[in-house]
Amino acid sequence: MAQAGTEIRTVGIIGAGQMGNGIAHVSALAGYDVVLTDVSAAALEKGAATMEANMRRQVAREIITVEAMTAALKRVRASTDMKSQAGSDLVIEAATEKREIKEQIFRSICEVVPAHTFLATNTSSISITRLASVTDRPERFIGLHFMNPVPLMKLVEVIRGLNTDQETFETAITFAKRIGKTTTNAEDYPAFIVNRILMPMINEAVYTLYEGVGNVESIDTAMRLGANHPMGPLQLADFIGLDTCLSIMQVLHDGLADTKYRPCPLLVKFVEAGWLGKKSGRGFYDYSGDHPVPTR
Ligand code: NAD
Repeated sequence: MAQAGTEIRTVGIIGAGQMGNGIAHVSALAGYDVVLTDVSAAALEKGAATMEANMRRQVAREIITVEAMTAALKRVRASTDMKSQAGSDLVIEAATEKREIKEQIFRSICEVVPAHTFLATNTSSISITRLASVTDRPERFIGLHFMNPVPLMKLVEVIRGLNTDQETFETAITFAKRIGKTTTNAEDYPAFIVNRILMPMINEAVYTLYEGVGNVESIDTAMRLGANHPMGPLQLADFIGLDTCLSIMQVLHDGLADTKYRPCPLLVKFVEAGWLGKKSGRGFYDYSGDHPVPTR
C-alpha cells in the first residue's frame, strides 16, 4: 500500500458494469492490483467474464500475450463488500449515473479507505465539486472520465473540482498515462467537454426520430455516411446506455437552465420501458438475434 505522495499500487473500482470492467481491464494490464466491487454479485460475474473475453480477443489479435492476460486476470479481485477497498490507493467510482447513488458510495468509501487514498469518479456529467463535498477529502478528489469501450478508446477527460489539489491532479495524469491513455482537461461544468457536445447531438437524433423526419436506419446511415461518424447517433446511444444518455441530458437541462437541452420524450419513454440499449438487449435496435435490428 502506498503512502501519501507515493505511487499508486492498488486501484479500487466501484461498479462492474460496462465502464467498471473496462477500467479494471486496462488497470490490471498496466500492472496495478485491482479490487472491483459492485452491489450486484451478478454484475461482478458478468464484468469478470466480459474482461476475460475482451482480453482473449486482444490475445487473438496479438495486442497482448497470453502471459500478460493470465497475470492481469490474477491481479483482479472482485467482491460485493465495500470493505475490500481498504487497501486501495486510488478508488475510481463507475456506478450508475445517479447523484444519490454516487454520493452514498463516496460517503461509505470514506469510512473504509485510509487518509492517503485518492478518490475519482467516472461520472459523465455530475458536478465533481458536489460529489467531492460529501467526502472527507475534497482536495484528493477528481473526475476521471473514461470513454466506452475503455480498452479501445484513447481519451480520459480529467476534471478538477474546486478543491482538487495539485498532487491529486498530477497523480491522476500519471495514472492515466501509465494505463496508456491521453488526457484532456475540462473545467467542472455540466457534462464537461465530450458530453456537452455529444449528448445534445444524440438527443437531437432522438427528436429527429420522434418527429418522423427519418427512421432509425435512415438517421444512422445519414450520420455515418454524411458526417463520416464511425457509428450512427442512435447506435451510439444504445451503446452508451439510454439511461446514461437521459441522466446526462437531465444534468445539462438542470445545470444550464436552457430549454435547448430538454430530453426528448421518446428517450424518456424508452428508459421508462427498460429499453436501455445494448446492455438490456433492446433500445433503438433489438440485439436478440445475430445482428441488431432497428426497432422503428
Ligand atoms: P452500467 O449500468 O453498465 O454499470 C453500472 C454498475 O453500477 C452496475 O453494475 C450496478 O450494479 C453498479 N452499481 C449501482 N449502484 C451501486 C452501488 N451503490 N455500489 C456499487 N455498484 C453499484 O453503467 P456504465 O455504462 O458502466 O456507467 C457507469 C458510469 O460511467 C456512469 O457514471 C456513466 O455516466 C459513466 N460513463 C459511461 C459511459 C458509457 O458510454 N456507458 C462512458 C463514460 C462514462
